[in-house]
Amino acid sequence: MATVATLAGAPARFPGGLREVAPRTWAWLQPNGGLGESNAGLILGDGASLLVDTLWDERLTRRMLGELAPLLAEAPLRHALVTHPDGDHWWGNAVLDAGVELLATAACDRAMRTEAPPRVLNAMAAAAGALRHVPGRVGATAARLHGQLAPFHWRGVRLRYADRTVEDGATLDVGGRPVRLLDLGPTHSPADAVVHVPDEGVVFSADLLFVGVTPIMWHGPVETWLAALEALLALDAGVYVPGHGPPCGRAEIEQLAAYWRWLRDGVAAQRAAGRSVGEAARALVRSPEQRAFAGWLNPERILVNVATICRAPGELSPPARARLLVQMNALGAELAAGR
Ligand SMILES: [Zn+2]
Repeated sequence: MATVATLAGAPARFPGGLREVAPRTWAWLQPNGGLGESNAGLILGDGASLLVDTLWDERLTRRMLGELAPLLAEAPLRHALVTHPDGDHWWGNAVLDAGVELLATAACDRAMRTEAPPRVLNAMAAAAGALRHVPGRVGATAARLHGQLAPFHWRGVRLRYADRTVEDGATLDVGGRPVRLLDLGPTHSPADAVVHVPDEGVVFSADLLFVGVTPIMWHGPVETWLAALEALLALDAGVYVPGHGPPCGRAEIEQLAAYWRWLRDGVAAQRAAGRSVGEAARALVRSPEQRAFAGWLNPERILVNVATICRAPGELSPPARARLLVQMNALGAELAAGR
């Protein structure tokens, strides 16, 4: 059954749950595509199927697998593929049967092992919960962060890594259906693979595509993200399933490319004027050009995006990432208060 509210109880902007995006090709959608509200995919073949990503915790993943069960009766899961190393796409892996072979690119597998573990997020959620009633800026920032982390349950999450690594361009046989993996990163994260299902013209684009929500670039460079969007368009698919947000077509990819070009050029101009990352992000998010993207949730993500454009591309340490998450929510609290 389609869900009508987000995990945090906000009104859903699109129906959540299972959606058949093409024959024997399904998406699992979590509105509204915000932090941790990630999508997964299922490709059914004859007597075998492939899952694209699990979810941020085991409870959510179990619920998804329960809804998928009738589809899996005839085509059991043989493989699951992790698109990229952010926890919201694989921390549910441990609830899959041991016989399901887990696949990822070598870069993804490496980064999965260095990502901040669930206990770090538990500690962050607890700190945000404790600070959220403090008056002023600290409390407002903590309340936002707490609201985003509270729907997830990471206590006792067991991390399950890839059983086998696969290379860019590899074709998997999913019960007679060819499924191709393309490594288009790193840019959003240290490894960004997408899954192309050519027989039905579907691409599971993972976090190279955000729809209705501002994208977030943790790794960079922005040019790689722009090239990845070109590569997605070149696949000429009928349906693109983003990592966050509802399934879409070419227009949403072109709009995302417009955002990155605008931000890249805007950051260059701000930096030339001597502005800091925080100043540049605040100027750009309030500029008239930003209105082209005003319908997207989480405009405060611009802070992380500006910071990434301003530094050398690379993997962030967990503390650096946590700092950016806090700074981004501070900006989110400012914007929500109309400041
Ligand atoms: Zn994600």
